[in-house]
Amino acid sequence: MKSIPEIIEGQKACFDSQKTKDISFRIALLKSLKSEILKNESEILNALNSDFKKSHFEGYISEFALVISELNLAVKRLKKWSKPERVRSSVLTFPSKDYIYKSPYGRTLIIAPWNYPFLLAIDPLIMAIAAGNTVVLKPSELTSNTSKILTKIIKNVFPDDVAISIEGGVDTATELLAQKWDYIFFTGSTKVGKIVASAAAKHLTPMTLELGGKSPCIIDDTVDIDLAARRLTWGKLLNGGQTCIAPDFVIAKSNIKEDLIKAIKRQINNRYGDDVKKSPDFPRIINSKNSKRLVDLIKDENIVFGGEVDITTNFLSPTLIDSPKIKSAIMTEEIFGPVLPILTYNTEDEISKILNGLERPLAFYVFSKDKSFFEKLIETHSFGGGVVNDVLVHFGNPKLPFGGIGLSGLGNYHGKFGFDTFSHQKSVMKRGTWLDLKLRYAPYQGKLKWLKRAFKYLG
Ligand code: NAD
Repeated sequence: MKSIPEIIEGQKACFDSQKTKDISFRIALLKSLKSEILKNESEILNALNSDFKKSHFEGYISEFALVISELNLAVKRLKKWSKPERVRSSVLTFPSKDYIYKSPYGRTLIIAPWNYPFLLAIDPLIMAIAAGNTVVLKPSELTSNTSKILTKIIKNVFPDDVAISIEGGVDTATELLAQKWDYIFFTGSTKVGKIVASAAAKHLTPMTLELGGKSPCIIDDTVDIDLAARRLTWGKLLNGGQTCIAPDFVIAKSNIKEDLIKAIKRQINNRYGDDVKKSPDFPRIINSKNSKRLVDLIKDENIVFGGEVDITTNFLSPTLIDSPKIKSAIMTEEIFGPVLPILTYNTEDEISKILNGLERPLAFYVFSKDKSFFEKLIETHSFGGGVVNDVLVHFGNPKLPFGGIGLSGLGNYHGKFGFDTFSHQKSVMKRGTWLDLKLRYAPYQGKLKWLKRAFKYLG
């Protein structure tokens, strides 16, 4: 196995050779990545299940299928995306033809989290390759079965000097971050995001940070409570609640709270049965450290449903918390598990008071039929992206940029936004030579009034 500096040296030589600039080379790689992934479908789904009991259905819908559709899109649109984009010229620089070239950064480092270990490793890799970069991917050490498949797939498709997966934990990530990169794409916690940002600052390396946070879900009294509860419960419990854009907590209009809690309980029973532990559809917490963290979060709270824990199997049943204190740990930390606190409001000011006390979230959800209510919330609050009358589903439209704001992230991706993220926008003006106004050249004496007139005329 080559050392990390040798791998990066090899990728630099490959990038400098211009090989990755060839669009048909990139398309061929993406097609071969797709066929390798399709060939390994059951191994991927089995690996996700071995890592944290993620069902094949959830593995398919929330990881496998999204990767394939992103690959299809990249293959279909790559020629168009990568063409220099002609923009209107400015009269000030007439005559010229002006373009934006989509130029790959070069050597990129992608660090992935464990919670959607296949999707969040491969998705950025697809767009990094589509944009003509080389990639070193570090998958998560916490989902070792999925990481092994990722490494195998990447090894079978890419020469090491184009893309490679390097497995390992914090030490490996630290060693990788100490190198000089042309772009860093990180998905993970805000805490580690700050470490990544300071490593990137050393070389002024541009980066994308896809981080987490506490995403609120506001529910007013105009809604169909059963529908809202069904969608909310689905989004909260997908992946065992370990989703960066999961609704973290609910702020419900106080007059519907009791009915909402009843409806969520019914939903949990309908989806997972009376004994959730026996359901093949409910994932486990990733490890005992996180299970214990969640147990600590709920131990002093008013649990109105669930709260069943088995640390030895990392099981925590879907849990509802009624009216936690705003300063409690459960309302200040990202929950990242199947625990849903429910707060209430009577006035819009009360909603603002809760939200303004928290960092800007990655996602924001409102259930309401009242257009002026949800439009005002959307206008008033800063967040990465959101949905009205559902949760999570904005992730599925590649025409919407996906990313956070403030402590929930920096930059965005998905579809063409991903391609643009991994491309430097290189401005090029091609000037005509048939006209060369002498006004700009010294000596300037007597020319200022003409310059002022010209500016006035041109607006
Ligand atoms: P994490 O930050 O612990 O780990 C992410 C990656 O960073 C892993 O590959 C890990 O090996 C590496 N890492 C860990 N400690 C490091 C260190 N000290 N120095 C360098 N690298 C280090 O995150 P996680 O537990 O894998 O994922 C959960 C978090 O990720 C949650 O906060 C969640 O909200 C967030 N997340 C965000 C998105 C998004 O798209 N915005 C998606 C998924 C998860």
